[in-house]
Amino acid sequence: MATIKAIEGRSVHQIQSGQVIVDLNSVVKELVENSLDAGATSIDVRFKNQGLDSVEVQDNGKGIAPDDYETVALKHHTSKLSSYEDLTSLDTFGFRGEALSSLCALSKFHILTARLEDGAAGKRLDFEVSGRLKSTSVASAQKGTTVSVDEIFYNLPVRRKELEKNIKREYGKVLSLLQAYACISVGVRFSVSNQMVKGKKIVVFSTKPNTTTKENIVNVYGAKTLLALTKLDLHLGMEPSHGPSIQGARNWSTQATDRSMEVQVQGHISRPVFGEGRQAADRQMFFVNSRPCHLPQVSKAINEVYKSFNVSQSPFIFANLVMDTNSYDVNVSPDKRTIMLHDQTALLGSLKTGLTDLFEHTDHTIPQSTL
Ligand code: ADP
Ligand code: MG
Repeated sequence: MATIKAIEGRSVHQIQSGQVIVDLNSVVKELVENSLDAGATSIDVRFKNQGLDSVEVQDNGKGIAPDDYETVALKHHTSKLSSYEDLTSLDTFGFRGEALSSLCALSKFHILTARLEDGAAGKRLDFEVSGRLKSTSVASAQKGTTVSVDEIFYNLPVRRKELEKNIKREYGKVLSLLQAYACISVGVRFSVSNQMVKGKKIVVFSTKPNTTTKENIVNVYGAKTLLALTKLDLHLGMEPSHGPSIQGARNWSTQATDRSMEVQVQGHISRPVFGEGRQAADRQMFFVNSRPCHLPQVSKAINEVYKSFNVSQSPFIFANLVMDTNSYDVNVSPDKRTIMLHDQTALLGSLKTGLTDLFEHTDHTIPQSTL
């Protein structure tokens, strides 16, 4: 008798969803990215009980069209990508069409949405666990979309317990991520609040729709932080070398070896005299073409150079790597936080040289206003 059988659809959906939405961080990341992709200039993130009870993200973006209500939360349904080839010229955060369907599988989930042409008559959308639309009802809503995720992981007891146990740390990680989005997103107003079960609603931080990342940093971290910083503006040119350094890179990655690569590193970093005075991991933000991501090797390289000028402190880092979309791959993990950089070794070498040069020419005196 055959022992190999297909896994039943609902179970497959749950298994896959648990890889897209791995923790509280991924919930918030997916919702905020959707708001940014929808062209929002105002984003409110509201937590209840640090996210354990509820996470709500409200935006003033373009809203969801009635024709899309049926498909909005279906797996692999997206308005952002239609073929594999589009991945190389991607200019949206999302593209896999998995976040909303995964949230349907792992939380109590609903959407409120209204478009400009709908006036104040918005719609509330409720979904099955599978992501299929269950019902729509009229609800008052401002232009834009509000996505509510209640009791995340209520049906995955182990993960739910872990989250409850580590909620302080998890919530801290989420705030760092939101700070990164708020700093990089020029022209977007962010407001982040939390309400504990018996407490008042507290605004954790907020930004104005500023025109520069510098102003965003002042809103998030305070004006004092800025005094310690110097501008990062490195132009790194690398000669072509020998193919992708990580196995499994896609074909187009190999094509990119034919050309020399140019990377600009833009942002702000502490001047060596002005470290944060402690391990500032929550104040080190890395982006590739404005997409917040994990860049452990880049982080290590920058911290090493900094250490060679200031042994006792860690820098504030806000570093955006601007590069050709052909020179990296964001489709490495379902949560898209890991990025595969083409020719990373050459990039790191060039980065270290550029940064050392910058620090050697940086003013090492302490500004009067901080003395
Ligand atoms: P992806 O972002 O990869 O497309 P998602 O599951 O996150 O997949 O979202 C599915 C679709 O729902 C998006 O492609 C978009 O069309 C729509 N959508 C999601 N969130 C919003 C939002 N805040 N405003 C407008 N449309 C949205
Ligand atoms: Mg998305």
